[in-house]
Amino acid sequence: MSRSAIRASSTRKLSAKNPCAGCGGQCCQYFALNIDKPETPGEFENLRWYLLHKDCEIWVENGDWYLQVNRPCKAVSRDGVCTIYEDRPTICRRYKADGCDRNGDGYEYEQHFREPEQIAEYARQELARKRRLRRRATTNGRRKK
Ligand code: SF4
Ligand code: SF4
Repeated sequence: MSRSAIRASSTRKLSAKNPCAGCGGQCCQYFALNIDKPETPGEFENLRWYLLHKDCEIWVENGDWYLQVNRPCKAVSRDGVCTIYEDRPTICRRYKADGCDRNGDGYEYEQHFREPEQIAEYARQELARKRRLRRRATTNGRRKK
């Protein structure tokens, strides 16, 4: 399941009997966790470390940051069926097929990082931008005195 992703509503017609028919369990192939927005060089370094690991990516949606781990749930079968359906976790029960990975209208990421170099470059630019803003604020403060 996409644990945290907010999906746009779908226009696709779903089978009332089984909206997941033929999907292969796309939403059971990963999980995503909300993480703090990085502000400092050390926090950006931690994100770079995440991305040095296989099957990890980071994305930003509506200003919120997420770490996604692309590893399948242990309970999904090879053909994408939940093998513990009656006992599946609450988060899986709440996930709606009408806006899901297959049936939704797609994600609109503000940022999407797959490689450590990408977050390092973003950090370089973002931290430089913040330094410029601080300098400007200091200069403006002095002028007002
Ligand atoms: S909820 Fe959507 S992505 Fe998940 S198995 Fe059903 S159709 Fe596939
Ligand atoms: S418990 Fe079942 S529904 Fe939930 S992620 Fe695993 S396979 Fe999918």
